[in-house]
Amino acid sequence: MSEHGPGTRVVRAGLAAPEQGEPFLPGPVFAAPFHLSGDPESSPAPYGRYANPTWEAYESALGSLEEAEAVLFASGMAAVTALLLTELRPGSALAIDSSCYHGVRHLATTHLQANGVEVRLATPAELAEAAQGAEVLWLETPSNPKLEVYDIAALAAVGDAQGALTVVDNTTAGALLQRPLDLGAGAVMTSATKSMTGHSDLLLGYVATRDRDRAQRLRDWRRCAGSIPGPFEAWLAHRSLPTLGVRLERSCANAQALAELIAARDDVASVAYPGLPSDPGHEVARRQMSAFGSVLSFDLENADRAERFLEAAQLVTDATSFGGVQTTAERRARWGGDDVSEGFIRLSAGLEEAADLEADVGQALDGCFR
Ligand code: PLP
Repeated sequence: MSEHGPGTRVVRAGLAAPEQGEPFLPGPVFAAPFHLSGDPESSPAPYGRYANPTWEAYESALGSLEEAEAVLFASGMAAVTALLLTELRPGSALAIDSSCYHGVRHLATTHLQANGVEVRLATPAELAEAAQGAEVLWLETPSNPKLEVYDIAALAAVGDAQGALTVVDNTTAGALLQRPLDLGAGAVMTSATKSMTGHSDLLLGYVATRDRDRAQRLRDWRRCAGSIPGPFEAWLAHRSLPTLGVRLERSCANAQALAELIAARDDVASVAYPGLPSDPGHEVARRQMSAFGSVLSFDLENADRAERFLEAAQLVTDATSFGGVQTTAERRARWGGDDVSEGFIRLSAGLEEAADLEADVGQALDGCFR
């Protein structure tokens, strides 16, 4: 299938060959034990923690999209944990981009550090030095929530030179917009909770890698740790995959329109969106992304103004996370953990009509500055 573009592959990915009377996507298989006689190794699914045909169909879809082996987990953080704990040991070093998702930073600086991993938090400019002698080089681009863009090929070359595994957290872009494995990363981790599934109704995560042994270690970890995806979530995720391309076309265009609208105002302190030619990450993003994503952020400087914006916006729902079909936004500082001002807003553009969103965000911004 890979002679077709990823936007075409995604429409049928992971579906069985057509068979008379069979559905396109068979329903979810719910089972703890499966019928099993004799040697457990002889069965494709001996027990629900070992295997499930519904996850395997979705994994095969993700694998065809990534052109790699994909291993699915119960959430993005379950995928992060599996990858880091199968690559790192007491005494190992992890070089990690300090602007990455705070959940990953927290895992590294509390639990991994407590188990003897040396955690080196570094800015992109410091990452090359931090990677020296490290087992894993972890980066996230565009980063959440500041949408900083890092050069994947350049950092993967640094990782290779240091003998470190370069991992890219591809959550904000997703597999259709950015292909870290083609740019030299050894593994890619994606929270499928966001745009990959896109309906704000489930949590999932996966690791894709072209290294079979690494994929096998991850499956073994999942079986032992029990961080398995639920079959219903995997089925819903697979069901939403064929619309990924069209959802992204609309949400990326809406994000671009909103970023331009906000950047044109002189009352908003700063806007970050890799699709803006003025954005510091624009040139690198143009090289390594096929579109600039559905998430943007801007700074309203103080909590009151940001809350007034969220209150006044009718089409922007106050909620965390991103990548859903409805436009959402939140004042990030309410969580703590990110290096952002009290008025920093992260906005995820949904699938509404651009003109309606622009009018609504425009009036909410006018209102919050009054
Ligand atoms: N990585 C990034 C960049 C994220 O934004 C998130 C969640 O927001 C995660 C990882 C963790 O994913 P999940 O919430 O599915 O565990």
